[in-house]
Amino acid sequence: MTQIYDLAVVGGGIVGLAHALAAARRGWRVVVLERDRHAVGASVRNFGFVTVTGQQAGACLRRARRSREIWAEVAPQAGIAIEHEGLVFAIRSAEALAVIEAFASDPERGAGCRLLESEEAAEGFPVLRREGLLGALWSPHELRVDPRHAVARLTAWLAETQGVEVRFGVTVTAVEGGWLATDAGPVHAGAVVVCPGADLEGLFRHRLAGFDLTKCKLHMLRLAPQPAGWRLPGGVMRDESVVRYLGYAELPQAAAVQARLAAERPELLEMGIHLIATQDADGGLVIGDSHHYGDPPAPFDDARAEEAILSLAFETLEVPNRRVVERWTGIYPSVPGRQALIDAPGPAVRLVLVTSGTGMSTAFALGEEVVADLAGERARLAGVAE
Ligand SMILES: Cc1cc2nc3c(=O)[nH]c(=O)nc-3n(C[C@H](O)[C@H](O)[C@H](O)COP(=O)(O)OP(=O)(O)OC[C@H]3O[C@@H](n4cnc5c(N)ncnc54)[C@H](O)[C@@H]3O)c2cc1C
Repeated sequence: MTQIYDLAVVGGGIVGLAHALAAARRGWRVVVLERDRHAVGASVRNFGFVTVTGQQAGACLRRARRSREIWAEVAPQAGIAIEHEGLVFAIRSAEALAVIEAFASDPERGAGCRLLESEEAAEGFPVLRREGLLGALWSPHELRVDPRHAVARLTAWLAETQGVEVRFGVTVTAVEGGWLATDAGPVHAGAVVVCPGADLEGLFRHRLAGFDLTKCKLHMLRLAPQPAGWRLPGGVMRDESVVRYLGYAELPQAAAVQARLAAERPELLEMGIHLIATQDADGGLVIGDSHHYGDPPAPFDDARAEEAILSLAFETLEVPNRRVVERWTGIYPSVPGRQALIDAPGPAVRLVLVTSGTGMSTAFALGEEVVADLAGERARLAGVAE
């Protein structure tokens, strides 16, 4: 007998899993179809940094706040460790200080954050290099999970406790209403959500061509475990992030940071480099990143990116063990100025792409929104109140 699901999700990255969770919470029968034998896309290559502070005011910030709540709720149930909480934004130039002062004094953007002067920042966060430190912004909101474990644990938990069927090694080749063609036979579902990540060449290829999509390739590094007791107080960023995170970048003071970078370190702007540092349970540091745009992404990696990322890390942090133990790149779809794309290629079919580096931070809320929308559509079609 053909099994009919309420929702079929294409893609087993964090965006697909978030939709599966939202639907399972409504009691829907859900299947997740993932092409690879386990997820190896952006969702396992990122920092695992659930970032709230600095997200663009409006939908993105709202989604980050809601997603953070869901991570906090789900992580202990799913056996996902929160590696650290909060964000330390190290301030190393007068221009960045002006941005962060404006940010911290805005009751909406800077809610719950505290600006520390240089002495207080150096005392409070001894892993920061004192030399050149003008102060720091402390945000308590962030969570950090290790994505290599978190995505696998979340998938297993959805299957084991939430009734979600997860089928790995299944490629979806076409979606026609509630019917999906796959290389393992047809699947029938009342609604479909396609979450393909950076795969813009597969499903709905021609439709996606109508958006201003490109791809963003990021360089990442892992440093060897640091000595016992050396712990980051939270995720760490610094001045250059002012240009990349729209919650800061949209403040008028950010133009001066951009101008200084253009004059003094144009290679950072050219390669879209800023610093994020997070720490794994074994003490290893995950640091990055760069942003190289193009579709297809360049097959070759600019060696200057690694040098620049390391230089920012070592200028900012007193890192005892500087040995690089892993390097990788990750790719996400990108639309200039747009954080996420939700499209409706057919009735009860949604195409959902996070078109910025915010999927770990916003996916759970996106999943709730899209599934609520589908529930409303289903109810309208059936002529009943949702
Ligand atoms: C290096 C890097 C660092 C980042 N850091 C952060 C961070 O710290 N915080 C943050 O919030 N965000 C971060 N991001 C962004 C975040 O990782 C992404 O927004 C998010 O992972 C996107 O999730 P996804 O599920 O859409 O894509 P993916 O994780 O790429 O998953 C898509 C899945 O769909 C599957 N698929 C595609 N087509 C088909 C098909 N036809 N049939 C079956 N399966 C299919 C693929 O196999 C893949 O597993 C980072 C991204 C990168 C690359």
